[in-house]
Amino acid sequence: MAIATVNPTTGETLKTFEPLTSEAVEDKITAAQTAFGTYRHTSFAQRRQWLHQAADILEATDRVAEFAQLMTLEMGKTFREGEAEVRKCAWVCRYYADQGEAFLANQFVETDAGQSWIGYQPLGIILAVMPWNFPFWQVFRFAAPALMAGNVGLLKHASNVPQCALAIEEILGQAGFPEGVFQTLLIGAAQVAAVVKDPRVQAATLTGSEPAGASLAAIAGHEIKKTVLELGGSDPFIVTDSADLEEAVATAVKARMINNGQSCIAAKRFIVTPGIADAFEEQFLATLQALKVGDPLAEGTDMGPLATADIRAQLQQQVAAAVAEGAQLCLGGAPLTDQPGYFYPPTLLKDLPPDRPIAQAEFFGPVALLFRVPDLDAAIALANQIPFGLGASAWTTVPQVRDRLIQELEAGCVFINGMVKSDPRLPFGGIKRSGYGRELGIQGIHEFVNIKTVWVK
Ligand code: NAP
Repeated sequence: MAIATVNPTTGETLKTFEPLTSEAVEDKITAAQTAFGTYRHTSFAQRRQWLHQAADILEATDRVAEFAQLMTLEMGKTFREGEAEVRKCAWVCRYYADQGEAFLANQFVETDAGQSWIGYQPLGIILAVMPWNFPFWQVFRFAAPALMAGNVGLLKHASNVPQCALAIEEILGQAGFPEGVFQTLLIGAAQVAAVVKDPRVQAATLTGSEPAGASLAAIAGHEIKKTVLELGGSDPFIVTDSADLEEAVATAVKARMINNGQSCIAAKRFIVTPGIADAFEEQFLATLQALKVGDPLAEGTDMGPLATADIRAQLQQQVAAAVAEGAQLCLGGAPLTDQPGYFYPPTLLKDLPPDRPIAQAEFFGPVALLFRVPDLDAAIALANQIPFGLGASAWTTVPQVRDRLIQELEAGCVFINGMVKSDPRLPFGGIKRSGYGRELGIQGIHEFVNIKTVWVK
């Protein structure tokens, strides 16, 4: 995939970039290693100040708009969602700036030693391979804890968001982080292996698809390097008979269509029990139908285009496969080809037999799958009948039902009567083929540190 800005609203190629040569990559790794030599000794107070400065830059009124616009230009999210994303990046910077020192403070433990404790030390260069769908947020949620812990970062961003990648490097530089502490590598996917293998690179994190995660983890495994993987999902959204219907419907639409339907933790499978199924289906369909698809920069637009032509083509193939396997098309179901760009309408499919292979796939776009089940047991079984385990949202007002859902859903998080979302204060990550390791919270900052046991007689 060429490294380029292609506006998904128009299909126009606006800017292309030459990938770095292997010599240029080598220079950047050398710069990172040199920077780590001194950066690791900077104080928490200093790092705290730089992270707050990064947050100040992100939150400056004109810059919120600038960065939001850049995201819209490169991957098509609505400007409104872009603004919220920029502010969330500032939040995660401030969160780790303020909490990082406490998260990494020595923990004393009574043993047979005169004194023994657990200390947390930085590892060195961490490689982050990131996706385009939340081009700022995915990077900042890695960078804020990694830099606060004293690591240095190398970013290989998705090839379709190079200007976002460069903007983030610039923000962190302007904030005061010394040269070499955070660098963007404009490289293609094929160049990642060499970086992972470099002995100076200590660990890697990848957010993206299963094939990309498996490929990076295989190389890192061979090199005996730690990885964190945040991969795909097909999150269930379970609506039981006792749910608040209005709220469940409104949240279901938002949870499926956020980011033009391209979120790992979007609700993708809507599982409904008999007492509420008809009413939910009717209102869900009507609300989806009312969404406004159009220019992502325009006020009032609910959904912009998909990020690339390939993503739209793949989604269309999946929809066709689902219909061929017996799903009923209730809404949408074909690319909007009467306009330029990569637009796809809100789409609702129902009654796809859950045992078909296509029912196990992640639909990375505005396509909702609706399943009716006879009871709660069947709802939980269907929710878990998937190779992924990222998030789950479930709706009930009955405490016993709630407790079963919390206990039995196989996912990295369960949200009751709410939409699955990330929050700097809570760990985020999956089980099964959604990956391993956690970002955010105290767990996130502990992923890329040497948890050092100290024993003194
Ligand atoms: P992707 O194609 O896997 O790309 C993600 C990143 O990996 C990009 O930087 C890409 O570079 C790189 N990459 C691709 N193949 C690689 C390989 N073989 N070795 C090393 N790097 C490789 O995924 P995507 O289409 O951008 O993103 C969509 C997927 O990400 C969905 O499955 C979604 O659920 C998942 N996601 C997960 C989370 C989470 O937190 N769990 C968050 C967001 C998205 P190029 O662009 O150069 O190919």
